[in-house]
Amino acid sequence: MIEQNDRMSADVRRRAYLQALGIDVWVPRGGDAPADTGEAPEVALAQPVAEDWDGLRSAVASCTLCALHKSRTQTVFGVGNQAADWMIVGEAPGAEEDRSGEPFVGRAGQLLDEMLRAVGLQRDAVFIANILKCRPPNNRDPLVDEASSCRAYLDRQIELVSPKLILAVGRVAAQHLLGSDAPVGRLRGQKHFLNDGQLPVVVTYHPAYLLRSPTQKRKVWQDLCVARQIMRQLSQQPDQQPDR
Ligand code: URA
Repeated sequence: MIEQNDRMSADVRRRAYLQALGIDVWVPRGGDAPADTGEAPEVALAQPVAEDWDGLRSAVASCTLCALHKSRTQTVFGVGNQAADWMIVGEAPGAEEDRSGEPFVGRAGQLLDEMLRAVGLQRDAVFIANILKCRPPNNRDPLVDEASSCRAYLDRQIELVSPKLILAVGRVAAQHLLGSDAPVGRLRGQKHFLNDGQLPVVVTYHPAYLLRSPTQKRKVWQDLCVARQIMRQLSQQPDQQPDR
């Protein structure tokens, strides 16, 4: 059963990657993707159209890979500096983000802005995106297949921005990004990397959680200091990989 689920998510993810690249994916009437023969699918020869921001933006805007497209008002692509050093990854749009099309615009967004200002960053200096581009109904947690479908979009955003560091805010962002099921309390305070050790990821609490538990702000401040320290280290030795 677990193996079957793994295969399903791998399939969903492969289809999502192809769709993110603007490649039409042939799906037989039965609804399943073609059996994975281990060979590169022929469709991969099609011209990728989402090599750039515009292509990616329109692939996201028209995405129907998971059921969330039926209930969304609009997709929430992400905002900010497309060449940012810091990339912030959250969970998924809430009601206000679904209405406005911009991530982190509610009270949690204001607190995120404050967190950034605490380390000298304006909101427009960073790039902000979410694990999911569509709002899950009643703000429930993203399902595994929803996150898998959306992952190719986030991965392409990360490639295009090419940040020096990712700040993952909250359990959902951290677990999906890092492929872990550990709680935030365990993931924060540890060193994590993506892209074969090239891209440091700092995990902290979600600002919505901080609104409910303000006493945890001290820990968030510690996490932000760690992130700032990594950035300082990288700017002093630009060609070095971050300390592991
Ligand atoms: N929470 C998130 O994780 N992302 C948003 O965009 C808004 C709230």
